[in-house]
Amino acid sequence: MTAGDVSADATDVDPGTVYLVGSGPGDPDLLTVRARRLLEESDVVLHDKLPGPKIIEMLPEDRREDVGKRAGGERTPQSEINERLVELAREGKSVVRLKGGDSFVFGRGGEEAEYLAAHEVPFEVVPGVTSAIAAPAVAGVPVTHRDHASSVSFVTGHEDPTKAESAIDWAALAKTGGTIVVLMGVGRLPDYTKALREAGMDPETPVALVERGTWPGQRVATGTLETIVDARDERDISPPAVTVIGDVAGSRELVVDFLRNDYGPAAEGA
Ligand code: SAH
Repeated sequence: MTAGDVSADATDVDPGTVYLVGSGPGDPDLLTVRARRLLEESDVVLHDKLPGPKIIEMLPEDRREDVGKRAGGERTPQSEINERLVELAREGKSVVRLKGGDSFVFGRGGEEAEYLAAHEVPFEVVPGVTSAIAAPAVAGVPVTHRDHASSVSFVTGHEDPTKAESAIDWAALAKTGGTIVVLMGVGRLPDYTKALREAGMDPETPVALVERGTWPGQRVATGTLETIVDARDERDISPPAVTVIGDVAGSRELVVDFLRNDYGPAAEGA
């Protein structure tokens, strides 16, 4: 831009639209048609690692920004991502904010939508297939089942269940009789399985851990409320993984021999 070139001043440009796009759990075939189209057509894609290696590989290098971790390894503050979205939109660009799964399920999409609205930037929400449902599903676990579960709760396992100020009432969850799906719950698995047992949930309740659902090398570990921590440790299950707690996790046994979802040579293992 040369001095006096007012036409290039960002404030003169109509803001571009920000698309809050859920990528689905990671298999590119599970992107929505709209998500795929926007990835091809947008000026820039802001993403982190959760959409998975296959989808990230598809993004043209000159049009993508990794806003997951900064050099040094710590997570980019949400405020910085919010500001970048507004900055790019004010340059007139169409911007995809790509999140794993669905942006509005533990994806901070709600915060981004509020920030964009407060800064008068138009945005569109493009729902994605959440890993909370899809990761269990591709492992043969339906989150509801007429015989086993009439409700399902999605909770974060990030919090310390022993803290009084924990936002999650594990004792109440133990009493619903429905399925409990825990996201971000690999590290604190021992804490919340214990909290559920102490609240009276049957220690024999089936539990499944689905690691990297639909990614190459997806793995599944199964056990009960009592044994799942050992299963996690034996298989060295690490994030991203979802924990499914409830009788539905046991119904996997009935279908797994005929389940043909295939996510690469390292897949499975039961
Ligand atoms: N918005 C995302 C969730 C973000 S929170 C969604 O709707 O799926 C991050 C957590 O999501 C991870 O810790 C893990 O529990 C879960 N997760 C995301 N992708 C996953 C995948 N492919 N397989 C298993 N778990 C996944």
